Amino acid sequence: MTAVALQMEPGPTLVDDRVIQALAAPPMYHQSADFADALDETCALLKQLYGTTDEVVVLPTSGRGAVESALASVDPIDRPLIVPTNGTFGRMMATVGQSLGMQVVELKHDSGARFALSDIKAELERHDRPILGIVHNETSTGMVNDLAEYVDLVHRRDGLMLVDAVSSLGGTAIDFDDLGVDLCASAAQKSVGAPPGVAFVAVSERALGEIGGRTRPPVGYYLDLLRWWDQWVPREKGGKLKSGYRRLPWTMPTNLVVALRRALELTAEEGVKERWERHRRSGAGLRAAMATLGMHPVAPSGTESNTVGAFRLPGVASPTLRRRLAQRHRVYIAGGLDGDASTVIRIAHMAESARPGPLLHTIAAIAYELNDLGIQAAADPTQEFLKVWHAE
Ligand code: PLP
Repeated sequence: MTAVALQMEPGPTLVDDRVIQALAAPPMYHQSADFADALDETCALLKQLYGTTDEVVVLPTSGRGAVESALASVDPIDRPLIVPTNGTFGRMMATVGQSLGMQVVELKHDSGARFALSDIKAELERHDRPILGIVHNETSTGMVNDLAEYVDLVHRRDGLMLVDAVSSLGGTAIDFDDLGVDLCASAAQKSVGAPPGVAFVAVSERALGEIGGRTRPPVGYYLDLLRWWDQWVPREKGGKLKSGYRRLPWTMPTNLVVALRRALELTAEEGVKERWERHRRSGAGLRAAMATLGMHPVAPSGTESNTVGAFRLPGVASPTLRRRLAQRHRVYIAGGLDGDASTVIRIAHMAESARPGPLLHTIAAIAYELNDLGIQAAADPTQEFLKVWHAE
């Protein structure tokens, strides 16, 4: 690992050296046949990660760009967008919808609270063609929201289900086809294990039908997904390309795509399910270690994320601990995001940070600093991590 500091914030996360090495090549001409091959391979690997045979579009943007692209592409004007929120990124999705002229209904929950299923279902019943937007892994609270409960009802209302899987894809089980999700946005820099700068949207046949059937001009130009089908997808694969001359709708950051392909190849070698399991064990081990220091997850029991841990601190301010970790250990973790920046810490266990090496280093540094501040561990936290890592 080439990291000079231990970057344990929840994305951009630690990246395998082989991915970094893949960056060091001359940029490619984005409309060349060689780059088309690289992008096709990347998309095929992304489909495996999403668990889909539908199209996955790669975009030169970040996670929120992918969320915006998904919403902008389905004729958003006056369309109901129902967003249950229990953290920063749910609220961000609601804001994106508002900025696109959607009729946004935000179902507000406390930060880190479970969604009230019956309220969401009742709200869905009130709308025609609603889009239900759910953040799968709320990175601000380290909490996973259920997806499976709503899909049938959304489809019965002739609606679409949009999932923000920005921090879960690659580190948490998600099966796009099996779940019946319609639009799923994610990005390279978190559990996928690649550098930031590219993001993706998986698009179901149902969503594509709506995007292709739009009767109004698109809202925005740059992130309109239809241009992918108009210019990039060959006719035999459902696109509109007549001449067979594929042209990407934008200049792609070709080095980032090549690095992403390398990260996805490494994921395929590891095995997607094995990778989910590694993330799950990392999260469980970290929680066991933090418990010895009196730190408990913000997420309710049973909803804890496999890719990011958010913990309440025992009587120490988060900026104090973070400053000590940075200055004395070069270990970088994040503070709380959801109005609790000073009482919560967030630690990534995504991609290369979901391994005993970086996690044990982080746990040991936290235990050392808390001890210095007068908080003693009830048991050796590194041993507790290892017990879980090896047992589960
Ligand atoms: N959604 C979730 C769940 C996130 O964790 C993030 C970033 O942390 C975003 C959306 C926004 O992604 P980006 O910062 O790449 O635009």
